[in-house]
Amino acid sequence: MGGGGGRSARSTGAGPQGGRGAAISSYDGPRLAVVTVTESAQQGQLGFTGMPQRLFTCTPSRLATWQDCPRRYRFTYLDRPTPAKGAPWAHNSVGAAVHSALAAWWGLPLARRTPEAAGALVRSGWIPLGFRDEEQSLLWCDRAAAMVERYVATLDPHDEPVGLERTVGMRTDRLAFSGRLDRLDRRGDDLVVVDYKTGRHVLTTDDTRGSMALALYALAAARTLRATCLRVELHHLPTGEVLAWEHSPEALQRHLQRAEGLADEIVAAEEFPPRPGPMCGWCDFAAHCPEGRAACAPHASWAGLAEELQPLEDLG
Ligand code: SF4
Repeated sequence: MGGGGGRSARSTGAGPQGGRGAAISSYDGPRLAVVTVTESAQQGQLGFTGMPQRLFTCTPSRLATWQDCPRRYRFTYLDRPTPAKGAPWAHNSVGAAVHSALAAWWGLPLARRTPEAAGALVRSGWIPLGFRDEEQSLLWCDRAAAMVERYVATLDPHDEPVGLERTVGMRTDRLAFSGRLDRLDRRGDDLVVVDYKTGRHVLTTDDTRGSMALALYALAAARTLRATCLRVELHHLPTGEVLAWEHSPEALQRHLQRAEGLADEIVAAEEFPPRPGPMCGWCDFAAHCPEGRAACAPHASWAGLAEELQPLEDLG
């Protein structure tokens, strides 16, 4: 998500025209038009009678974007060229550096899997984008390194995760799903999906249980590796909390049905209305969306850091 930024062609928010599946929604220059292609056309479902329904190709973020805001979905996945995004977010830079460091840490030889090595990986892979200035970037580099060191100190370096930043996928009657999970553990005979969180939002078990993404990862991991995978975990690094949930097979199927329902909605959509609200301040495409800007002024690119982590001294 991000704030301002211009672009050479703009959408007006109008949906695709008519039933042909593809239409020029608007343009403001003589040479470059933004084309909105409906999902059904993009995914090859222009429709001949009797043709089998094509699978909807999706990732967790694609489904989540649709749920959040259809217009943002259109900007992200349908409009071409993609409208220019705002500046990178500092909190995303922190998250990306932490995720990369943790994946790399497990790749180190056993003797080098120390907390200090994890901190060093954060520093060497630091992404100084989106911060107010260099001073803020350096401060957060230190904070992130310390956070990762604390987290890694709770891990057993002898463990060998089944997957790190691993792509898993599955097909159903309706979906061709794929996604990249942060970590996949094997505990006993079963697999466990682990998702790292670095944001300031305090998590609860309901976040884990209700996460469609985690449920889909569990289903896909089970299919990909032909093993049972019912347990999903959110590892919240700022607090060190692990929020775990053990799904039943039926609960996982309910999440899948929900995802398939969203896929049906998306494919059928010919309008992509804005859904203005507080989240618009974090939207990458706010510069192109008057309704969103009216609902919430764009935040500074470093605003997501504010009180994001408790002061280190409070964490012990
Ligand atoms: S600014 Fe808000 S309403 Fe507009 S596209 Fe972004 S999330 Fe949707």
